[in-house]
Amino acid sequence: MGASLALALSGCGLDVALFEARSDIAASKDDRSLAVSYGTRLILERLGIWDSIETPTPIAAIHVSQHGGYGRSLLTAEEVGLPALGYVLRYTSLQRALGVALTKAPGIELVSGAHVEQVARAPDGISIRYRRDGASYATTSRLLVIADGGVSLAGQAGAIIKSRDYAQQAVVGVVETSRPHGFRAYERFTADGPVALLPFESRYALVWTAKQEAAAALVAIPEAGFLGALQEHFGDRAGRFVSIGSRARFPVSLRYAVDPVLTRTVLLGNAAQALHPIAGQGFNLGLRDAWELAEIIRRHGRADPGATACLSHYRSTRKLDRMSGIALTDSLVRIFSNDLAPLRALRGSGLALLDLLPAAKRTFVHRMIFGGSL
Ligand SMILES: Cc1cc2nc3c(=O)[nH]c(=O)nc-3n(C[C@H](O)[C@H](O)[C@H](O)COP(=O)(O)OP(=O)(O)OC[C@H]3O[C@@H](n4cnc5c(N)ncnc54)[C@H](O)[C@@H]3O)c2cc1C
Repeated sequence: MGASLALALSGCGLDVALFEARSDIAASKDDRSLAVSYGTRLILERLGIWDSIETPTPIAAIHVSQHGGYGRSLLTAEEVGLPALGYVLRYTSLQRALGVALTKAPGIELVSGAHVEQVARAPDGISIRYRRDGASYATTSRLLVIADGGVSLAGQAGAIIKSRDYAQQAVVGVVETSRPHGFRAYERFTADGPVALLPFESRYALVWTAKQEAAAALVAIPEAGFLGALQEHFGDRAGRFVSIGSRARFPVSLRYAVDPVLTRTVLLGNAAQALHPIAGQGFNLGLRDAWELAEIIRRHGRADPGATACLSHYRSTRKLDRMSGIALTDSLVRIFSNDLAPLRALRGSGLALLDLLPAAKRTFVHRMIFGGSL
């Protein structure tokens, strides 16, 4: 997210430095696939990198259902008058596009292989201490944006963090089916956690959330056993599961800063909020934050970007989208991770009703694509 923000700030007239721990910012080993909304595509276009992302797969429709209960909903791009609801892409390709663009972006100092170890308040701003090639360096900035993926720096900066452990993990992989995907995604809610199948090139990207021990077993069992378990769990609406590439698992939880704005500091991306992948909102929300922060800094001109006026403006502008994104994701996980029969019936009615009320459906889809706004 730091790379997106830096790119959005290119040419703004301020001195911008990006400290990145990876030695080559355009190379990443994070081979997860990412579902990005149509709104994210628009921002990536404005950043000038959309056309450099390799083969994004459009999502024309999303089929939402629940295991063991009636009710389903079909959300389509056609209903909302867009070419696609979103796209599935490789995170590595997105990071490469961002990295290459940054090396050519005017006014950005790119400090690769720089591991930031310490941040602290200083009389004239924020002091930043980092290690690079075995040596230690220090610098000071009027504004610090922490976008380290939520690893460690937010706590050092004094953020108050709240978290909820769902006791779930996400098992991810790329799965081949007997039927072509037709650009349709599936989200199936089960009491153990949601399962998403996202059209990804000629196959599906799978995100299967399960209880922790079950997730460990799902990664360890032989392929045939895994495919059988997936078929049993997901059903046959996408066809027969034929093969799966390498499998990996990620911890999933909710972790967010009560306030992403601190003295001369902003937390961005997963450092501000790490969400359950249930609704594929994490990257999308973070990118909207990054874009808006850059816009606000630009509007403040060459004035102090770390000043309270600038940061308060950012906080109030982003509050609704941020809090509703956190609340929506958390409620979806909790409402659907429950097998009580009355709740199952209520969920079924909700899904069926969504299909019967086109205006409500359009509002919901619009919110998922472009975020919450007044
Ligand atoms: C299984 C799974 C599926 C997901 N699917 C989706 C999806 O479909 N759609 C969606 O929108 N979101 C999804 N997400 C969420 C999304 O991946 C994250 O929200 C997003 O990648 C966070 O980006 P970030 O830039 O904050 O963090 P990261 O991508 O983790 O980047 C952090 C960067 O900071 C650098 N760094 C870390 N520490 C330091 C340091 N001390 N000094 C210098 N540099 C440092 C790292 O090298 C890295 O480049 C998913 C998440 C998971 C777990």
